[in-house]
Amino acid sequence: MASKERLAKDFANMEKFSDGGEGITRLAFTRPDRQAAAYIAGRMKELGLTLREDAFGNIIGRREGLFPGEAPVMFGSHVDSVPSGGNFDGTAGVLAAIEAIEMMNEEGFKNECPIELALFMCEESSRFGAATLGSRAMCGLLTAEDTKKLKDRQGVSLYDALKSLDLDPDGLESSVYKGNPKAFFEMHIEQGKVLEAEGKPIGIVTGIAAPTRMKITFEGMADHSGATPMGMRRDALCAASEAVLELERLASAETGVPAVGTVGVISVKPGAINVIPGTAEITVDIRSISKEVKASVTESFTAFIKASSEKRGVKTNIELISDEKPVMLPQETVKYLEKICAETGAPHITMPSGAGHDAMHWAERTRTGMIFIPCRGGISHNKDEYADIDHIALGADILCRAVKGASAKDFRW
Ligand SMILES: [Zn+2]
Repeated sequence: MASKERLAKDFANMEKFSDGGEGITRLAFTRPDRQAAAYIAGRMKELGLTLREDAFGNIIGRREGLFPGEAPVMFGSHVDSVPSGGNFDGTAGVLAAIEAIEMMNEEGFKNECPIELALFMCEESSRFGAATLGSRAMCGLLTAEDTKKLKDRQGVSLYDALKSLDLDPDGLESSVYKGNPKAFFEMHIEQGKVLEAEGKPIGIVTGIAAPTRMKITFEGMADHSGATPMGMRRDALCAASEAVLELERLASAETGVPAVGTVGVISVKPGAINVIPGTAEITVDIRSISKEVKASVTESFTAFIKASSEKRGVKTNIELISDEKPVMLPQETVKYLEKICAETGAPHITMPSGAGHDAMHWAERTRTGMIFIPCRGGISHNKDEYADIDHIALGADILCRAVKGASAKDFRW
């Protein structure tokens, strides 16, 4: 069983690594982030793991197996944070992994295949505007050129940030993971309200959603609000408003594999109380773990906009900002984690992940499983982020069993 005392101590220690202000501010490759990484490396060493750091600064602690030539079972997460975030996003997964190694040591567990605990750098997009960069580097999806283009608010490039820490952006190829791990597991806080609402301490992730993002401009006609009769208007905001509600309707109608659709920004010009809006601009974010569902919502939505705007005499311009690929996690790992939950009597549900995670890159390379635990009120990326130690300990137990089981040489899914 996971030790809540040990976990609580690690969380208390991690809380110290912050740039000050409210909550935890541990932006990637800043001083507190380096201190946190050093603390985790120290814990891994203490537990007898053999450490290596790659060119991007990712830290991998290896528990050698009885068959060192076999592909390792990998697990891990990140410890960098958003500004004024919490001490649980990412950190809970890393500390649960540390606790899993504690448990293995305690019981004298001998793993046949090697086990590797990975601490991924720069998972949050807060500093350089791009997420999961450490795991991208390990999966061969990040080049030195990319690191030169990514800059923080002060204009410091990721390339220079890495150089200043004696890391090696020019040698990123060397950080590409050789071969494929046998499996990858990540525990993470849910960052949503589903587990809490369902009263379940464990969520087994079926897939990781990715956004399709658009900027849509509606061009109507700015006119006098008093002198223009209702039938003679070309109101851009009315056209945009119809679109906002249609997106809600379309996403809600996906009841098989769910989809979510959000208009987070709306701006209106000229923006005066006595002028009919001439231009309205909205941002659209559509997500699902199914690429087909996401494509179908996107298609119906854009078709609706064209038709409804035409009726209103409003011109539209749809600009695609990004169209990322969602990842389905394999049935085998979902079933495997469900079986472990059943054996341990842990109440659980299967669910999609709305947020991106390091695990999505590993899912392209190996059988990948993710375990969610609740966070209070579903709050995350916020100073009030909080996860119950009982849930963290239960998640650590399940993570530990999953890794131990998969590390058997003759393990079959
Ligand atoms: Zn995270």
